[in-house]
Amino acid sequence: MNIAFIGLGNMGGPMALNLLKAGHTLSAFDLSPVARDKFAAAGLPIAASAAATLADAEIVISMLPASAHVEGLYLGREGQPGILAQIAAGTLVIDSSTIAAATSRKVAEAAARRGVAMIDAPVSGGTGGAIAGTLTFMVGGSDADLERARPVLEKMGANIFHAGAVGAGQTAKICNNMLLGILMIGTSEALALGVANGLDPKVLSEIMRRSSGGNWALEKYNPLPGVMETAPASKAYAGGFGTDLMLKDLGLAQENASAVHAATPLGGLARNLYAAHSLAGHGALDFSSVIKLLQKKA
Ligand code: NAD
Repeated sequence: MNIAFIGLGNMGGPMALNLLKAGHTLSAFDLSPVARDKFAAAGLPIAASAAATLADAEIVISMLPASAHVEGLYLGREGQPGILAQIAAGTLVIDSSTIAAATSRKVAEAAARRGVAMIDAPVSGGTGGAIAGTLTFMVGGSDADLERARPVLEKMGANIFHAGAVGAGQTAKICNNMLLGILMIGTSEALALGVANGLDPKVLSEIMRRSSGGNWALEKYNPLPGVMETAPASKAYAGGFGTDLMLKDLGLAQENASAVHAATPLGGLARNLYAAHSLAGHGALDFSSVIKLLQKKA
C-alpha cells in the first residue's frame, strides 16, 4: 500500500520503519530536521512537507505529540491550511497520537464531510514496542474502518483492541496511562525507600517483580539507572516517553474525570507530581525520571 506517515519522533519513526520493512511504499515527514535526517539515514523516503506525503496515499498515519498538533495538521492553525483539504476522498486516516477524544471526534467529523474515513488508534508499549512491532493499539471507529486498518496495524503491533466509536480509543488510552503514571510513582517510591535503607536496587527490584508488587515498570522499565540496561533510566532518561507527554495524558484524564464526575484522586496527585518534576526542568526526560523527586540528593 501507499502510506503517508507524519510524525517521526520516538514512536512514529520506528513504527514507519516497520511498515517499510513489511513492504509498504512510504512517504514520510516531520517538522524537525533532526528527525527527518535520522530516519532518512535509516531508509525512510522523506517528503518536502506534510502535504507532499499525500500524493498516491491510500492510508495516512499521524503520530504527533498532542491535540493542538493533530488539529493543526488536519484542520489548519494560525492561518496555515490543514492537509485534510488535500486528502483524496476514500482515503483512510489513522491517528495514533494520544489526544483528547473530543479532538479525535472533531477531526473525524470534518474528515467524514469530505468522504475521508478516520479512526483514532493510540498505542501502548513504549519505544521498545514501537521498535519491535509489538505495540497495543486501542482503536476508536467503525468496524469497517478498523478492518481496513488492521493489516497495516498488524505490522506495527501485536494487540489490536476495538474500544468503540471514534474517540473511544483515546478514552481507553488515558485510563491506561493514568494507571501507568500512578504505578511508576508507586514503584519509584518503594525503590527509593529500599535504597535509603541500604538495599541493593537490583535485588529489591527482582524481589518485588516476582512478588505481589510486580508490575510493568519492574518488568520492562525500571526507573533506577543501572538496574535494566535497556530502560531509559540507564540512558540518562533520554528517549522513551517524555515527562511532559505523561503530564499531558494525566491532564486529559483529569479533564475527562471532571466531565463525567469521576473520582480520580491518585490520578490527580500523580498529575501534580509530574507537573512539579517538569517545573524542576525535567519535562524532556523520560517520565521514569520522576524517581528523582523521591531520591536523596547526592
Ligand atoms: P515525540 O515528541 O518524540 O515525537 C513527535 C514528533 O512529531 C516530533 O518529532 C515532532 O517534530 C513531530 N511533529 C509535531 N508536529 C508536527 C507536524 N505538524 N507535522 C509533522 N511533524 C510534527 O513524541 P513520541 O514519544 O513519538 O509520542 C508521539 C505520541 O505518542 C504522543 O501523543 C505520545 O503521548 C504517544 N505515545 C508515546 C509513547 C512513548 O513511549 N514515547 C508511548 C505511547 C504513546
